[in-house]
Amino acid sequence: MDSNSFIEKHIFWDRFLKIIEERVNVQSYTTWFKPLVLIDFSSDSLVISVPKPYYSSWLEEHYMPLLKSTAKTLLNNNISIKFIVSSNIDSPDDTQESPSLFQPDVEPDIPAFSSPQAINPRFKFDSFVIGSSNQFAHAASKAVADSPGSTAFNPLVIYGGVGLGKTHLLQAIASRCFSSGKLSTENNRVIYVSSEKFTMDFIMSIQNNMTAQNSSYYRTASVLLVDDIQFFNNKERTQEEFFHIFNVLHQSGKQIVLTMDRPPSQLKGLADRLINRFQWGLVTDIQPPDFETRVAILKKKADADGVYLDNSIAHFIAENITSNIRELEGSLIRLLAYSSLYGEDISTEMASKVLGDTFRKKPTLITIEFLQRLVSEYFSLQKDLIISNSRRKEISIARHIAIYLCKQFTDSSLKTIGLHFGGRDHSTVIHSLHTVEKKYLKDPSLSKHIQILTEKTKNPV
Ligand code: ADP
Ligand code: MG
Repeated sequence: MDSNSFIEKHIFWDRFLKIIEERVNVQSYTTWFKPLVLIDFSSDSLVISVPKPYYSSWLEEHYMPLLKSTAKTLLNNNISIKFIVSSNIDSPDDTQESPSLFQPDVEPDIPAFSSPQAINPRFKFDSFVIGSSNQFAHAASKAVADSPGSTAFNPLVIYGGVGLGKTHLLQAIASRCFSSGKLSTENNRVIYVSSEKFTMDFIMSIQNNMTAQNSSYYRTASVLLVDDIQFFNNKERTQEEFFHIFNVLHQSGKQIVLTMDRPPSQLKGLADRLINRFQWGLVTDIQPPDFETRVAILKKKADADGVYLDNSIAHFIAENITSNIRELEGSLIRLLAYSSLYGEDISTEMASKVLGDTFRKKPTLITIEFLQRLVSEYFSLQKDLIISNSRRKEISIARHIAIYLCKQFTDSSLKTIGLHFGGRDHSTVIHSLHTVEKKYLKDPSLSKHIQILTEKTKNPV
């Protein structure tokens, strides 16, 4: 292995474990992931050494989707994962037959398996960049964190795709509730839990005849935050348990916040009565960030690491990674690592060298926001003006053309297009399409603009 790929491997593994660490509780991470060693990696496979044979089967059974999706996030490819047992690697505790799932130092009346899940100290409101894609979810989260149980947002439900900041917001609420002093110390039971851990706790409680203790642990929360509810799908008893906990907490005015990957009404394998309750309070979404927000996130992350990131480089990354903030961060980390390892300043050349592969593998996608930017730059107008209600002639021409291009080049519905243009309804969108088709395309100077813009969409980056 040359030094370059050695470094790549090192950076990759470091990043890989960091992502896993954010996704599982501390105990699982220490038990199952910390002892792993990356032996080999290529663009389509990982070979990981495990200290004992049972690690392979446990990981395969419980964490394969997580391992694969993490590898895919970083390598942008479907990855096969192989485990090999290495006797050269120390087990965390060789005397143990199987790893303990219990934590020794927990309060005696709380079942050991219900021990609190760690909160990532990076996930605070201060480090969350607000943009049009997430401002509502952010505002609602803040309101809830400031007055838990006292707003109309109970439960608060945040839904959205992977890597868009749901866990970040949920944990920011937890941190703020812990530290704000709004909850008196004896009531300050803020519980953050992934639905996976909730399920595991519940199963453990059945095995240990401790279901009553497990329930009471959750039922005495003052704030209950459950992440990724979609994983409750088809787990009927867990859902039932959660249903009762939900009712007790809600009836006594305790705050509940939930995240999920799609709107409640589209959740599969969840009981209707639960879905119904999810809609009692406020349901809000997080969308992929727009270009400006992506740039702001990159700049903020670089700032937090004490690194100056030139606008041209931030733009370059933000142009290429459009849908997932975790990938955005991953790219920046690769650049920072490369720059510090080789003592080179970050430049656009370096960025295209280090990140080029990641970018090239992606199909280029024409998005509404890309087209809005294209049209606004072309006509030298602010993007905001195109979205605004202004009736100034040159602005409404640009707006009609932008809407027309969105219909031509994206799969978005008229409704979605309307929403991206300042919340216009679909009949307004149809009006724009008619105007372009009936008038502009017949006007030589206007149709020339449309032709040039169409040409430009062929090179979306
Ligand atoms: P999700 O839970 O929706 O899959 P996460 O909350 O884990 O996503 O976010 C993925 C990464 O992106 C985290 O490191 C998080 O800090 C970062 N992130 C997401 N949204 C923002 C934002 N608006 N500002 C700053 N960082 C963000
Ligand atoms: Mg999450």
